[in-house]
Amino acid sequence: MKHEIKITKNTSPKAKPDPSTLGFGDVFTDHMFLLDYDEGVGWHDARIVPYAPIALDPAASVLHYAQEMFEGLKTYKAQGGGVKLFRPDMNAKRTSRTNERLCIPPIDEEFYVDAIKALIDVDRDWVPDYPGTSLYIRPFIIATEPFLGVRPSNSYKFIIILSPVGPYYKTGLAPTKIFVEDEYTRAAIGGMGCAKVGGNYAASLKAQMKAHALGYSQVLWLDGNERKYVEEIGTSNAFFAMRGEVWTAPLSGTILPGITRDSVIALLKDWGVSVREERFTIGEVYGAYDAGELSEVFASGTAAVISPVGELRWKDRSIEIADGKIGSLSQRLYDEITGIQSGRLPDAHGWTVDV
Ligand SMILES: *Cc1c(COP(=O)(O)O)cnc(C)c1O
Repeated sequence: MKHEIKITKNTSPKAKPDPSTLGFGDVFTDHMFLLDYDEGVGWHDARIVPYAPIALDPAASVLHYAQEMFEGLKTYKAQGGGVKLFRPDMNAKRTSRTNERLCIPPIDEEFYVDAIKALIDVDRDWVPDYPGTSLYIRPFIIATEPFLGVRPSNSYKFIIILSPVGPYYKTGLAPTKIFVEDEYTRAAIGGMGCAKVGGNYAASLKAQMKAHALGYSQVLWLDGNERKYVEEIGTSNAFFAMRGEVWTAPLSGTILPGITRDSVIALLKDWGVSVREERFTIGEVYGAYDAGELSEVFASGTAAVISPVGELRWKDRSIEIADGKIGSLSQRLYDEITGIQSGRLPDAHGWTVDV
């Protein structure tokens, strides 16, 4: 599937924000990418146009039954100029798997990456050049058919927007407080836990608000069946350094296969650290803590890269992890991954792509 991308330049570009004041996801660039799908025609009309609201029929099925998927990745100003993407082929592959789960027609993976590159090229000036900043890329697909029956839509829009973002932690890497959620769950076997879909996020808001009200920044999700197996932390994957190994939940359908997770596992293995992708319970985590064998907990995801956990609370019991400080593995992983992303460190795995 080869598409020509038609480019219409924005004739009234916006003023760029001061890169030292950037937050997350509230500023957008001058252009967006669009691709339409219609049954019988396939994906068509690839174009880059000025960033603007889109018109939707109020009956568009995404508004009623949430047939929607999204992705998230970042592009970085490279050391010595140029712009780098981190493993965009993995986002393309994950999009294909999410689309399959959601009955959205597939998009050619090579074209998907080409579309991201073409949009970045047009908005190249928007990639911020300030420590810790990047340009966040949000590809997403919505079902657009005006029809209230429940079945897959026969028309879609694939859209990519860009947002310059600041460092996740304004004052540098910092430990977070995490609430172990044992009432609400995120995913069940056979559900959509392994797909990156908006619906999963809508379902997670209630627990997030509960954690915030109790003074915690995120939740640790337990499995939907027995509420004892550790799954994910908020919208990131979870790692536990305990009993001399690093444990993370396996990709068995209920957790999101994070690209940062995959990168963390590869680096840990490079460093000779034993990684166990096996089910384990929150009880085992507390047991390791009581035995003095829980050294660190951290989360991994595109937004924060690595997020060390300083406190866990499960039911009435709070435990302090790594003395409430940043663990050494967390710091090393953060430095290594952000170093590779910006081109400061060698990229032995061939993860970065120049745009
Ligand atoms: C996106 C996401 C992650 C992290 O994936 P990355 O590819 O590392 O950004 C983890 N969990 C959930 C639920 C997510 O949506």
